[in-house]
Amino acid sequence: MAAIPLVDVRAQYAPLIPELLDQLQSVLESGEFILGPNVNAFEDEAARYLGVPQTVGVANGTDALVLVLDAMGIGPGDEVVCPAFTFYATAESIVRRGATPVFADIDAATLNLDPADVVERITPRTKAIMPVHLFGRPAPLRELAELGIPIVEDAAQAFGSPEIARTGVASTFSFYPTKNLFGLGDGGLVAVTDEALGDRVRMLRFHGSRDKVDFQFVGYNSRLDELQAAALRIFLRRLDEWTRLRREAAGRYASLGLAEVCELPPDEAGHVYHLFVCRSPDRDRIRAALRNEQVGTGVYYTTPLHLQPALRFLGYEPGSLPETERAARENFSVPLWAGIDARQQERVVDVVREAAAVPAR
Ligand SMILES: *Cc1c(COP(=O)(O)O)cnc(C)c1O
Repeated sequence: MAAIPLVDVRAQYAPLIPELLDQLQSVLESGEFILGPNVNAFEDEAARYLGVPQTVGVANGTDALVLVLDAMGIGPGDEVVCPAFTFYATAESIVRRGATPVFADIDAATLNLDPADVVERITPRTKAIMPVHLFGRPAPLRELAELGIPIVEDAAQAFGSPEIARTGVASTFSFYPTKNLFGLGDGGLVAVTDEALGDRVRMLRFHGSRDKVDFQFVGYNSRLDELQAAALRIFLRRLDEWTRLRREAAGRYASLGLAEVCELPPDEAGHVYHLFVCRSPDRDRIRAALRNEQVGTGVYYTTPLHLQPALRFLGYEPGSLPETERAARENFSVPLWAGIDARQQERVVDVVREAAAVPAR
């Protein structure tokens, strides 16, 4: 039987290749490649989509985080509370600024920051809370906002969720090709609810200058380019349909009975299923069976950030974030993308059910 990939990026954009070629050709004919009309238009269209006053295109999702923290004046001596069950860049951006990431544990059901544990980690030095909308599920923004500390949403995995980007002072996105909204290479975006902060990010992405004449800050060179923006404009118009297909596929896993053999991500309206991540104490056996049947599967953050070599200096010990560490041991994903078909999903479920039926040795 044909292999089923974990994600089929090409299947999502293949029908759009003629439209993409047309727009890429226009960029080639214009001779404008950096910060031109497509970037401006995409920034406006993304701001309208997200319901924020402005967005700023940058080179990637990691830079988006660093630029926001810099624009907020966060640096040495400051603390930012974030999860350890996330991609490395979340905490890396804080360390890159010379500030200290303070890890809070996650909620076992949602895998997102647990507001009750966040409260315990706040000190007079806490300058921001950085929740991650993990795997496409919105973090508990309302509860976190009640703590009265500026929020920076790491929304790299959640473009398309209607609940995000309007609570935080800023939200950051990545257009890495496997994300829900993706480019044809690297790209990123900062969305702000505070216009002054947006203006500062806009200057920072170009060496701290507004006009290429006066340089007000020591900044960065981190820009979205015209070819990426031209593709992103096309993809943004398809995003709601892609999200609908992702949510439909997630619902199908539930109705096919996958929940009988492993723990499924609880559904909620704002979840855009960047990945479909399940849990099982038996995950290694299940994954071996999936690989054996050529079905794609992934595991995420198996060494959580508080135990990563580069961050050992922060002093966290194994056992210090119990729910994070349990999720690291138990999580695994099964194939999901916008357009996966029901037969492929049936086969995935069959393989998992068969693996789970074999009694543990
Ligand atoms: C992908 C990702 C990033 C980094 O984005 P890049 O564009 O690869 O730099 C940051 N945070 C999270 C949670 C991500 O998933």
